[in-house]
Amino acid sequence: MIQFSEVSKRYPNGRDALRALSFHIDSGELVFLTGHSGAGKSTVLRLIAGIETPTRGQVIVRQQNVGRLARRRLAHYRRGIGVIFQDHKLLQDRTVFDNVALPLFAAGASRTEIGKRVRAALDRVGLLGKERLPPLALSGGEQQRVGIARAVVARPPILLADEPTGNLDPQLSLEIMQLFDDFHRVGVCVLIATHDLALLQHFPARVLTLADGCLATAGR
Ligand code: ADP
Repeated sequence: MIQFSEVSKRYPNGRDALRALSFHIDSGELVFLTGHSGAGKSTVLRLIAGIETPTRGQVIVRQQNVGRLARRRLAHYRRGIGVIFQDHKLLQDRTVFDNVALPLFAAGASRTEIGKRVRAALDRVGLLGKERLPPLALSGGEQQRVGIARAVVARPPILLADEPTGNLDPQLSLEIMQLFDDFHRVGVCVLIATHDLALLQHFPARVLTLADGCLATAGR
């Protein structure tokens, strides 16, 4: 599903974020990406999401060479990937419903379809009934759930999460990870960058550890 072959990434400031990194993730797999701050975790996610392009090597996702996609194909490609950020990036002047509906608006879905899908996504994350509220009326954990609902609403086969529990206490963090595990169980390929090693022990998933842009271990 996701294949990195000798991928290197040098940012314009000369920083080498990844060095000849190779790994493979199967469809439907749940994988944790760990490593120290600056190890290259976010860069891996940004390359898969098509936000950055590799300097060398190939990032192949769903049989597509992501770094080589033309702009229009890239927009289509990105719709197949749900992305969750630590700070969830919700629009505070819109309701929960509108935030979750964004990817469907972008894809040109009908109003009926949007209503149905948004409610289903909010139901999955336990937030049905909060559609009309602004995100700020919700707790931190609930806002992260809105971010997850938005990421899954268009039913992408791949979910990427960058430190999704960074601002949450251990109990809420576990609940959020549980949600990701649920999506994995229904066949979604889930890749989660986290430095919270204590959380990982609850999930029997593969762990890829990065150190200075290289794979330190491909354990478990
Ligand atoms: P992590 O997510 O593991 O903390 P990152 O992928 O964010 O690591 O960063 C890897 C390295 O690349 C770091 O040295 C970081 O400073 C650098 N880096 C990340 N993003 C950029 C950028 N946009 N421009 C320049 N350097 C960057």
